[in-house]
Amino acid sequence: QHRVGNGFVYASRHLSDDEAVASLRAGLEGEPLAEPNLIRFRTGHREQFWRGNCVALGLAAGFMEPLESTSITLIQTGIEKLLALFPDRDFDPALAGEYNRSTTLEYARIRDFLLLHYWANDRRGEPMWDQCRDTALPEMLAHKVRLFEAKGHLVRYEWESFHDPSWLSMYAGFDIAARTHDPAADYFSVPDLQAALARMRESIGKAVALAEPHDSFLAGYGVG
Ligand SMILES: Cc1cc2nc3c(=O)[nH]c(=O)nc-3n(C[C@H](O)[C@H](O)[C@H](O)COP(=O)(O)OP(=O)(O)OC[C@H]3O[C@@H](n4cnc5c(N)ncnc54)[C@H](O)[C@@H]3O)c2cc1C
Repeated sequence: QHRVGNGFVYASRHLSDDEAVASLRAGLEGEPLAEPNLIRFRTGHREQFWRGNCVALGLAAGFMEPLESTSITLIQTGIEKLLALFPDRDFDPALAGEYNRSTTLEYARIRDFLLLHYWANDRRGEPMWDQCRDTALPEMLAHKVRLFEAKGHLVRYEWESFHDPSWLSMYAGFDIAARTHDPAADYFSVPDLQAALARMRESIGKAVALAEPHDSFLAGYGVG
């Protein structure tokens, strides 16, 4: 690799372009190799992703934000859903209806996961972050947070792109703690848990030993 990509995401209502460029430059490891490229975005998605014989994928469908980088996964799941629902020449509207229903849910679940990053922040006295903390959470997200606080329960809805480990990292990283643990956890003794973890470590180790090293994988494609 011959260069490191750097980005800086900011809310233009709270920071000028010049201030953002200065912060970006201040954080670079070495000399800049190019001028910063300003990309503006407005978050949202289409009301209808599939209409008649036309399906919107990628940026044509919507955009959330760059930090958790969900655009490519949305393209991938969009293609999978399209294949699963692929129409004949009659274009039954029920197929488009299901595509639109599930894709709308998928965007909403990603929105909730992203919103948690901003709502749970503890950067007090900074206008943008104060405003984010005051945001009213959608009820489905508020329900999730309440369940986790109650006993560490991780709620999973239909069409979640982010799975339990991602939600757990968010709660742990933001010091959102469970008030108590699940009583079922008391059935396992510490030695039982240690034995289970040792088995997991062993099977992960076996998988790693069989995997091709990264360098030789890249070399197979003439890079590295
Ligand atoms: C720096 C950067 C880093 C990113 N990192 C990630 C990441 O880590 N993970 C992730 O999921 N996403 C990431 N994204 C977002 C993701 O790459 C884009 O959302 C995705 O590539 C969009 O694909 P698309 O096909 O919808 O649009 P595009 O890739 O923009 O394709 C649109 C195409 O249409 C062409 N076009 C435009 N107008 C016309 C016209 N009038 N006639 C004909 N052709 C036209 C364009 O030339 C282009 O080829 C990143 C984006 C950027 C900019």
